[in-house]
Amino acid sequence: MWDTGWETQRLLKAMWAAPDFYFDMMSQVKMDSWSNGRVSLVGDAGYAASPLSGQGTSLALVGAYVLAAELKAAGGDHQAGFAAYESKLRYFVEQNQGLVSAADGPPAPEVLAAAATSLTLD
Ligand SMILES: Cc1cc2nc3c(=O)[nH]c(=O)nc-3n(C[C@H](O)[C@H](O)[C@H](O)COP(=O)(O)OP(=O)(O)OC[C@H]3O[C@@H](n4cnc5c(N)ncnc54)[C@H](O)[C@@H]3O)c2cc1C
Repeated sequence: MWDTGWETQRLLKAMWAAPDFYFDMMSQVKMDSWSNGRVSLVGDAGYAASPLSGQGTSLALVGAYVLAAELKAAGGDHQAGFAAYESKLRYFVEQNQGLVSAADGPPAPEVLAAAATSLTLD
């Protein structure tokens, strides 16, 4: 990488001196289930979307909203609430995690539209 031309050498040197340089893997959390016993996961803990999706905060907020609503609707049966939460949210999560693909460039308009409309909130 050192010899790739352009500004690469200058950027690599600056990286070591920068006080706020951020470098990490771009990855996603995909779990078969988000709940176990009396514990249920929300947001990044259960279904982190890659920062490249730009949707992690939305998933966390919507997930918390749906979980709270389903726990209330279940009237104290937390297992029923957890199951309803997962049933309602999983497709929305999958669509939004799917915004990030191995292909270069932004997602196609129909992929964006599918992610945006894959959940209706009460
Ligand atoms: C570089 C980068 C860029 C991003 N860009 C975007 C973007 O453009 N748009 C977007 O929507 N999202 C973006 N995200 C993702 C977004 O930040 C997360 O998806 C979102 O913050 C998840 O919210 P959360 O509440 O699930 O988790 P977090 O925000 O991580 O909150 C978890 C909290 O729990 C606390 N905690 C951890 N362990 C314990 C413990 N044992 N006891 C008590 N507290 C604990 C942590 O300190 C933290 O405050 C980006 C993320 C990164 C890393």
